[in-house]
Amino acid sequence: MPDTLIIVAYLFAGVLFIKSLGGLAHQKTARRGNMFGIVGMALALVITFLIDKEFAYTYAGGAIVIGGAIGAVLAARVAMTSMPELVAILHSFVGLAAVLVGFASFLGPQAEMTAVEHTIHEIEIYAAVAIGAITFTGSIIAYAKLAGKIGGSPLLLPGRHGINVLMVVGLVVGGVYFVKTGEADLGLQLLIANTVVSGVLGLHLVAAIGGADMPVVVSLLNSYSGWAAAAAGFMLSNDLLIVTGALVGSSGAILSYVMCRGMNRSIWNVVFGGFGTGDSPAPAKTVTDQGEAVAASPAEVAEMLCCAQRVVIIPGYGMAVARAQHAVSELTRKLRERDVEVLFGIHPVAGRMPGHMNVLLAEADIPYDTVLEMDDVNPLLEDTDVALVIGANDIVNPDALVDDASPIFGMPQLEVWHSGTVVVFKRSLSPGYAGVANPLFFRENTKMCFGDAHDSVTDVLAGV
Ligand code: NDP
Repeated sequence: MPDTLIIVAYLFAGVLFIKSLGGLAHQKTARRGNMFGIVGMALALVITFLIDKEFAYTYAGGAIVIGGAIGAVLAARVAMTSMPELVAILHSFVGLAAVLVGFASFLGPQAEMTAVEHTIHEIEIYAAVAIGAITFTGSIIAYAKLAGKIGGSPLLLPGRHGINVLMVVGLVVGGVYFVKTGEADLGLQLLIANTVVSGVLGLHLVAAIGGADMPVVVSLLNSYSGWAAAAAGFMLSNDLLIVTGALVGSSGAILSYVMCRGMNRSIWNVVFGGFGTGDSPAPAKTVTDQGEAVAASPAEVAEMLCCAQRVVIIPGYGMAVARAQHAVSELTRKLRERDVEVLFGIHPVAGRMPGHMNVLLAEADIPYDTVLEMDDVNPLLEDTDVALVIGANDIVNPDALVDDASPIFGMPQLEVWHSGTVVVFKRSLSPGYAGVANPLFFRENTKMCFGDAHDSVTDVLAGV
C-alpha cells in the first residue's frame, strides 16, 4: 500500500477522533461524537491491516477475534453501576500493552538507525515501560477500590513522599544506565527493574489516595493510559497511535483538572498520591451524633410536589443502583403538565464516573436544557420549593463546607438545604462512598423517604 495513502488515511482517522471528542463535549452531540469515533477507529484498523496483510490475517486477526469476543461478552454483561470498574480495568490493559510493546521493541530485531535515533528509541522504550507499568498497577488498585475489593481509605505509609521520590530517582538513574549501556543483558535487567519499580510506584500512588478523591484518579489514569498508548506509538513509529494516545492523554488531563476543581482539590495533591492528606483519616461522625431524622411517605411527598412551583432534582449514585431514571423522567413529565418547573442539578463527581448522571438522564430522555451544572443550579436553590435528592449523599453534605475535620472538607456541594423542603430518597441513613455521615438528613427542613429509589419514585408518581 502506498505510503502517502496510509498517511492520508491516518490523518483522516485522526481528524475523526478530534471531531469525536468535540461531539462528546455536549450531550446533544454525544451520539454523533461516538459515531465519528467508531468510523475513525474502523478506518484505522482497516488501513493498519492493509499495511501488512499476512500479519493481519494471522496474529492480529486471531487476537481481535478472541479479544473482541471477550470484550463483547463483558460489555454486554456489565451492569451500568459497574461501568467505572470496567473502565479502570480497561485502562490497566492499555498500560500492560505499553509494557509488552516496550519489551518486544527491545528484544525484537532492530531497524537500521543512526546513534542519535538509537538513543531516542531507547528513551522511548524506557519511558513507555515506566508509564505503562504505573498505569497498569495504578488501574488495578483503582479497580479494586471501585469494586469494593479493598477498602477506600488511603494507605498512608510513614515517609510515603520520600519513598516516591526515591523510586523516581531510581527510575531516572536506571534510565540513564539503560540508554548508555550497549550490553543487551544489562539492558534487559534494567528494563525489568524499571517495570517492577514503576509498578510499585503506580500501586503506591493510587493506594495513597482516599475514596473521596477517586473520581480524579479514574480520569487521571485515563490520561496516563493515553500517554502510554502515545509512547507505544513512538516505539512502533505509528503516527496514528501517537495522535490517538496524545488526544486521550490530554483530554484525560483536562478532565482531571475539571474534576479537581469540582472537588476543590489541587491536581498535584492527587498526582503525587495524597500529598497534603493528613497522616490519619479524620474519624467520621456517627449517625447517633446527629439527632433524629424525620421520615415522609411517598404520598406526602406527592402532595408537596403538587403544591410546588419549582422542584430541583439532585440525582446521585443511588439513582443508578435503583435504575430509577425512567421513573424520575415520568415524574418530571407529570409535574410539568401541572405547570411545576422541574430542573436537575448535576455535581461533577456524582455517581461513580465522570458524566455518569448525564448519561442516565439522557437515556431517560430528560430534556438537556433542564439539566444544569452545580454552579448554575446553586443560586436557584433559595427560590426552590422542593429539592428531591435521589440516591445522592456525599454531594449534598453541608459538613463539607464547614467541618474542617471532614474527609470531604472543601468539596463544593449542591446546597439543597437552602430550598424550602429537602426530600432525600435512600434506603437508610448509612453514608455514601466517602464513608462520612451526613447532617443534611437531620435538618429541620429535610424529610427522608426511605426505600429503594425506583420504588419510592414510582409510588410518588402514583400519588401525583
Ligand atoms: P454516594 O456514594 O455519596 O451516595 C449514594 C447513596 O445512594 C448512598 O448513601 C446509598 O444510601 C444510596 N443508595 C444506594 N442504592 C440505593 C437504592 N437502590 N435506592 C436508593 N438509594 C440508594 O453518591 P453521590 O453520587 O452522592 O456521590 C458520589 C461519590 O462517589 C463521591 O464521594 C465521589 O467522590 C465518589 N466517586 C465518584 C466518582 C466519579 O467519577 N463520579 C468515581 C469514584 C468515586 P443507602 O444505602 O442508605 O440507600
